[in-house]
Amino acid sequence: MKLEDKITVLKGVGEKREKKFLSIGIETIRDLLLYYPRNYDDQSNFKKLYEAEIGEKATFTVKISSIIEDRRIKRNLSITTFLIEDSSGLGKISFFNMKYVKNQIKLNNIYLVSGKVNKFKGQVQLTNPSFELKSENNKVGNIYPIYSLKKNITNNEIVKLVDQVLNLNLFKENLPPNLIKKYNLMGKNEAIENIHRPKDQKKFIQARNRLVFEELFLFQLTLFSLKNKDVEIKTSPYRLYNDVYKFIDNLSFKLTDGQNRVLEEIFSDMCSETRMNRLLQGDVGSGKTIVAIIAMYLTYLNGYQSAIMVPTEILARQHLESFREILEPYALKVELLVGSTTQKNRDRILTGIYNGEVDILIGTHALIEENVEFKNLGLNITDEQHRFGVRQRQSLNVKEKSAHILVMTATPIPRTLALVLYGDLSISTIDTLPPNRKKIDTIAINETMLDRALNFIKKEINSGRQAYVICPLIEESEHFELDSATEVYENLKENYFYDSNIALLHGRMSNDEKNKVMEDFNLGEINIIVSTTVIEVGVNVPNATVILIYNAERFGLAQLHQLRGRVGRSSHKSYCILYNSSNTKISWDRMKVMTDSTDGFYIANKDLELRGSGDIFGLRQSGVMDLKISELPRDLNILKYAQIEAQNTFKEDKYLESEDNRILKAELENNLKVDTAILN
Ligand code: ADP
Ligand code: MG
Repeated sequence: MKLEDKITVLKGVGEKREKKFLSIGIETIRDLLLYYPRNYDDQSNFKKLYEAEIGEKATFTVKISSIIEDRRIKRNLSITTFLIEDSSGLGKISFFNMKYVKNQIKLNNIYLVSGKVNKFKGQVQLTNPSFELKSENNKVGNIYPIYSLKKNITNNEIVKLVDQVLNLNLFKENLPPNLIKKYNLMGKNEAIENIHRPKDQKKFIQARNRLVFEELFLFQLTLFSLKNKDVEIKTSPYRLYNDVYKFIDNLSFKLTDGQNRVLEEIFSDMCSETRMNRLLQGDVGSGKTIVAIIAMYLTYLNGYQSAIMVPTEILARQHLESFREILEPYALKVELLVGSTTQKNRDRILTGIYNGEVDILIGTHALIEENVEFKNLGLNITDEQHRFGVRQRQSLNVKEKSAHILVMTATPIPRTLALVLYGDLSISTIDTLPPNRKKIDTIAINETMLDRALNFIKKEINSGRQAYVICPLIEESEHFELDSATEVYENLKENYFYDSNIALLHGRMSNDEKNKVMEDFNLGEINIIVSTTVIEVGVNVPNATVILIYNAERFGLAQLHQLRGRVGRSSHKSYCILYNSSNTKISWDRMKVMTDSTDGFYIANKDLELRGSGDIFGLRQSGVMDLKISELPRDLNILKYAQIEAQNTFKEDKYLESEDNRILKAELENNLKVDTAILN
């Protein structure tokens, strides 16, 4: 068997299953093996009954001493309970609506039972535990993988297929031997095995570290390869015309200290003899756009054109409007070039850019895909950089080598991390928000306060406001007790918001369905949306004043910060309620960061501090970049080493031609789809 083989070579994969798996991106054996679990059900925490603590997940080796109850509570609810014991004491296991366990579980035999510990009068009680007769090779008590599921694929289906190929050692080692040795890295095949089926926690950590190192090393290598080889490009210095300060004075608001400082940094770059290469980071709403406009105006005063690239058409159109409004009195010509621009307009605009009539061009990545030729591009801005891929970020730069580069991002990245990710860029930070921003009241609650929170939302809705309820995932999994959006929706609809319009929004709906819901919400026809995180990007409904986030402990702090930004967009007072359903100290510490601050940078830095102490199998939180297994800032340390090694590798063997590096070159070409033209 080879990695390139289609999964149809496996037992049990026919046409139907092939199609299903294709829908989650699995076509070949390689795809299957690289489909890493998104979480684990760690049952390897073996405890004695007397030493287990409330709330922890634990596995016990017990004797079933008797069946003590088998009752019917309601018409649709029965409970079957067994008494269990080990050398340390007694406990109980109960099953809801699973009468058949009576015939499965045999009295006086030794079983492994695993679940979340509850206590009653000091005795351990488990509800619906996993259980298995003790034997030589038990499944219960292992670290069990949980995969992302979609389209009627079950976890067990994936597990069974992976099992067929897991021990075949199909991968070739792709890291140079000297690195494996230096960092004592686990081999590729062993790492793949342990990421799918961790033998124990230690092996899992080693496997993960190895795969993270590999990913970040290749990532850094790609960045180096893509980067212009001549970093210090000479340009003719701009003159700092006084008109630019007049422009600033004439704005309808006063710039913040942060904006002023950043502008001085930009001016100083532009008035020097080397090309600017700068990252501008600032929280959502910190006023990056006006900084960009001022830099463009200075560029115009010096007789050059500017371009700004944004990730979506909506954003591009928003910019067009505000740019034209602000620049109108100054007679600058601003044009928009996006995918939907008509051919006629396109021709006109392209001509205007070519002969210099257009001063500022706003666009989506149509800008790099089209044959756009500038007369004299002086400034090249990328907005919302975090939403572009590495390749796109580079493409425009490659074309116009002498134009100044300004990259803007709203994802607050701690400085230490930014330095590594954007190695060659200088960094400017707007760390102040414009005055008069409404503070969003944030509170963290536990289960006991949920009822009050929901009644509060009801009050807001009755006074005409709207609300979001966010849930972490839609997948139902037998291994997880997370509230899925659907379940929450049903519950809220039935028990709380029966006289409001409540709608469900999740990733499995079609785009049309999603748009319809968003539109109705926008129009105020829907009062409350229960949603997965699909609403995170670019939703702006000013009348929404409350956001309630279920299982808040499952989200990254940066993501919570983004979600919170959905409210507080009008003069109405706004609220963010974080429902933390875990009672670990770390989760409350994280909630406290959110209730203490609305400053994205503070939050990002705290996140970095707290991550170190998170649990080993913590659910992958959405990170800074589009990485498969690595999470930043969690893996910052590994990233540092990966960067050093990538630097060395690149320095010693730029074209990756040595025996040891050849496989790296193939990796870059295949996996990351980097043009060899750039590499060579
Ligand atoms: P972002 O940094 O997220 O791109 P924007 O540039 O869109 O933020 O700015 C958000 C809003 O703040 C805009 O309406 C803008 O006009 C306004 N704004 C920017 N700077 C200031 C300031 N110094 N004082 C008051 N309002 C400002
Ligand atoms: Mg912006």
